[in-house]
Amino acid sequence: MNILLNYERNGDSHTLKSYLKRDGYKSLSQLKKYQPAEVLEEVKRSGIRGRGGAGFPAGLKWSFLPKHTEKPIYLICNGDEGEPGTFKDRVILEENPHMLIEGIIFSSYAINAAHAYIYIRGEYGFAVRRVQAAVKEAYDAGYLGKPVKGTKYTCDITVHQGAGAYVVGDETGLMNSIEGKKGQTRNKPPFPAIEGLYGCPTIINNVETLASVPYIIENGGANYAKLGTEKSTGTKLLSISGHVRKPGVYEVVMGYPFMKFLNEYCGGVLGGRKLKAVIPGGSSTPVLRPEDCENMTLDYESISAAGSSLGSGAIMIIAEGTCMVKTLKVLTHFYHHESCGQCTPCREGTGWLNKIVGRIEAGQGTMDDLDLLTSITKHIAMHTICPLGDAACGPVDSFVKKFRDEFVAHIELKKCPYNSTFTRLQERV
Ligand code: SF4
Repeated sequence: MNILLNYERNGDSHTLKSYLKRDGYKSLSQLKKYQPAEVLEEVKRSGIRGRGGAGFPAGLKWSFLPKHTEKPIYLICNGDEGEPGTFKDRVILEENPHMLIEGIIFSSYAINAAHAYIYIRGEYGFAVRRVQAAVKEAYDAGYLGKPVKGTKYTCDITVHQGAGAYVVGDETGLMNSIEGKKGQTRNKPPFPAIEGLYGCPTIINNVETLASVPYIIENGGANYAKLGTEKSTGTKLLSISGHVRKPGVYEVVMGYPFMKFLNEYCGGVLGGRKLKAVIPGGSSTPVLRPEDCENMTLDYESISAAGSSLGSGAIMIIAEGTCMVKTLKVLTHFYHHESCGQCTPCREGTGWLNKIVGRIEAGQGTMDDLDLLTSITKHIAMHTICPLGDAACGPVDSFVKKFRDEFVAHIELKKCPYNSTFTRLQERV
């Protein structure tokens, strides 16, 4: 079932003309029937959880705003998807931007915001141009910048392009970036709902979350909640990459069996190889072995029961023949490189993790290094300003735990036991 990918990939799905043909902006005609609080209730009823990674219920988040405030309220759409393996929001930004704009108008109305920002990561130049063009079309057609038909409500949208940094995916780093400051995170509290952008109450939601709102309004929150499982409602966009025959972005109803998804939607493991490991929700989520995934379904509860997290819905497939130590070396390098340096455990610790995994991979590690790795992660996790510290630790702890034999083999053999680390992409058909 497609809610967000409900269009033909024929090259013009991003245009207003194509969106209107698909009954786009239909939910706006219903806006006059609702008070803002009723829209909020409808979104709460849908049970939709934030699709950025944390999975916090969107409607509940909106209700944290102060009931009475003299200050303007802002809505920010977070399109910074910087987690390695995550590229599902890009598809909405590039191919279905009007659905996102419609969702932003409705969501802004629900929280009494007159101005919304769409923040897009620096590396997504094409997406920025597509969204800017769609915003202009929406202004020209009177959906933005003028009162919504039958109401006094007007919404404005500003598109903001980041400069490219993992930490601005965090809410407070993102707000600093919009304000023209260094893209570093802020201490919380105060939380954005109380003191966010320019010191005003602010709600920040992910692209996929906001783009789902028109469907929720048109079909009713209760009907949306009927899709999926009790605690994971609706559909989910999944970006799948790595050693898989048909990588890409897919939409599934929550609760879909993982192995069926891998084999039927995605064509199975590349080159017919055996599955060795799965990172189910972006590179910061703990790695799983194939036996963990056998009965796993694609929803928050099941992946958590398997020992990991649905995260941003970025699934990475790793085939037999891949060196897990080298894979971890790549991941630890990423987090070390992206550390903003504000807090010592992250700034120093991520570098140590990368150095130690690197020396094990080079055949120069010792058995003490394995304990050292887990001891360092204990001192980073939960001791930092933003979630990057925790994100860097998830893969280290899980790789060492689930693939300890490979780390030991590198130490005992004093070299990497694998000839080649990654399957050649040419094998993909
Ligand atoms: Fe910066 Fe890392 Fe601290 Fe986050 S955890 S604020 S990225 S140093």
